[in-house]
Amino acid sequence: MTTSDRDATTVSLDPADWEADRAVAHRMVDDMFDYLQSVRERPAWQHVPDEVRAALDENLPREGTPLAQVYDEFRERVLPYPTGNLHPRFFGWVMGNGTVTGMLGEMLMAGMNAHGAGYDQSALYVEQQVIRWLAQLVGYPQDASGILVSGGTMANLNGLAVARNEKAGFALRTEGLQSSEAPRFTCYGGSETHSWIYKACELMGLGRQAFRSVPASEDYTVDVAALRAMIEADIAAGDKPFCIIGTVGTVNTGAVDDIAALRTLADEFDCWLHVDGAFGSLAAWSERHRHLVEAQAQADSIAFDLHKWGYMPYEIGCVLTRSSDAQDKTYGTSASYLMPAMRGVGVNNTYFADRGIQLSRSFRALKAWMSMKQQGVDRIGAVIGQNIEQAQYLSAKVDAHPDLERLAPTSLNIVCFRHLADGYDEDALDRLNEELLMRVQESGFAVPSQTLLGGRFALRVCITNHRTTYADLDALIDEISRHARAIIDD
Ligand SMILES: *Cc1c(COP(=O)(O)O)cnc(C)c1O
Repeated sequence: MTTSDRDATTVSLDPADWEADRAVAHRMVDDMFDYLQSVRERPAWQHVPDEVRAALDENLPREGTPLAQVYDEFRERVLPYPTGNLHPRFFGWVMGNGTVTGMLGEMLMAGMNAHGAGYDQSALYVEQQVIRWLAQLVGYPQDASGILVSGGTMANLNGLAVARNEKAGFALRTEGLQSSEAPRFTCYGGSETHSWIYKACELMGLGRQAFRSVPASEDYTVDVAALRAMIEADIAAGDKPFCIIGTVGTVNTGAVDDIAALRTLADEFDCWLHVDGAFGSLAAWSERHRHLVEAQAQADSIAFDLHKWGYMPYEIGCVLTRSSDAQDKTYGTSASYLMPAMRGVGVNNTYFADRGIQLSRSFRALKAWMSMKQQGVDRIGAVIGQNIEQAQYLSAKVDAHPDLERLAPTSLNIVCFRHLADGYDEDALDRLNEELLMRVQESGFAVPSQTLLGGRFALRVCITNHRTTYADLDALIDEISRHARAIIDD
C-alpha cells in the first residue's frame, strides 16, 4: 500500500464542504445578533416543554448529521429555553448577561484554540496583560501573580490553597496533612460566606469543620469582635488559624465586610487574608463607587468573577495574589515533559499552569482583552455604577411602598424585601412570598430569586445586568403588587 493509497481513506474532522458550512456559520452569527438585539421581546424565562426535554434524550449519534440540520435543531430545541439571564428583568441569583463582543471573543478563542499553559505565543502575553489590568483595578501592584480560571469557586479554592501552603510552616506539599507535624488548620469568615468555602475545605482535606463560621452583625457583615474571640479560643485549643476570608459583596445581600479590620486581625494572628469579591470586587471599576470596596487591596489574595458583574460570557473568573510567587510555590511542578526550553515553542515567560490546577487551559483571556478594549473599562465601570444606583432606586421604592418591607440593607446591587398582608403571621407571609415569587417567574415577566433572612422568606433582586432600565424596576414593583393582590384576594 502506498502513502497515497492510505490517504485515500484518511479522515479528518474539517468540513466536507467548506462553503456550505461557511454559509451556515454566517447564518449563526446573524441569528445570534438578532437574538441578542431582541432579548427584551421574549419572556424572561419559560419552562422547557416536555416534548423538548424528550427530544433531548436521544441515542448516541454514531452517524454524522449535516451542520445545517444540527443547527436547525439547536434553534428549535435549545435556543428558545435559556435560564433567562440575558433578559433585562432577570434578577435571580448572581448571573451574568454577556455581550456581543464577549460572544465574538469566545468564537475567536475557540477558532484559535490556543493551549494556555505557557509557551511562546500571543495568548500568553494577552493573559499577562489582562492580569495586569485586573491587578490595577483592585489596587494591587503590577507584579501581582494571577490567573484566569473558570469562575469564582475555582478562584477562591486556588486562593485558599495558597493561603494554607503559605502559612503551613512545615513541608506540606511533600508530606501533606498526614505529616506528624500537621496542625489542625482553621479558617474564618462570616456566616454569609458563600458555599464555595465548604467545597474548598472538604477538597483540601481539612473537613468542613475547619471553616469557622463567624456570626454576622445586623448588617450581615462579619462580626469582627466575635471573629477575634473565635480565633483566640481556637489557638488556646491548639488549632492553627491560617486564613481569614473577607467577603466583598455577600451573595445574599451584597454586604461588604470590614476588610481593614480583618487585615489587622490577620496580621496579629499571622493569618493570610483572602477576599472573596466574586461580584462585589468589580464595584472598584466604577469611579463613583470604588470607595465602597477599595479596602480589598489590603488582602493577600482576591478572587472575583468576570462572568457576573464584568458582563463577560461564562466562564471566566480570576484570582490574584499580592505576592508575585505565592501561586507558583503552591502549584508549580517539575515534570520532564513540561521543562521550559531555551528556544522554540517551549520557552515559558510566564507558566500559567504553575499558578493553578489546570494544565490544558483555554484562551479565555481573549474575551476579557477584547471586552475591556472595545467597551473601555470606564464604560463597563459606569454600567456597574448604574446597577448600584438602580439598586438604591429600587430600595427607596420598596421603602416608600406601604405593602413592601425591605429585609436587609442595600449596600451594593442587591435588594431583599417581601410583600406584607394584613392579618398574616410570619409563616403565612413566607408562604405568600414564596407563591408570589413563583408566579412572577412563571409569568415570564421578571425573574427575582429568593433567600432566607433572619429565617424569613425574602424576594431577592440582584442587579448585575447591563440591560436593566429604571422602567424595568418600576414595572417589577407593579407586577409584584399585581400578583400579590391576586394571591391575597384568592
Ligand atoms: C457566585 C459567587 C461565588 C462562586 O462563583 P462561581 O463563579 O459561581 O463559581 C463565590 N462567592 C460569591 C460571593 C458569589 O457570589
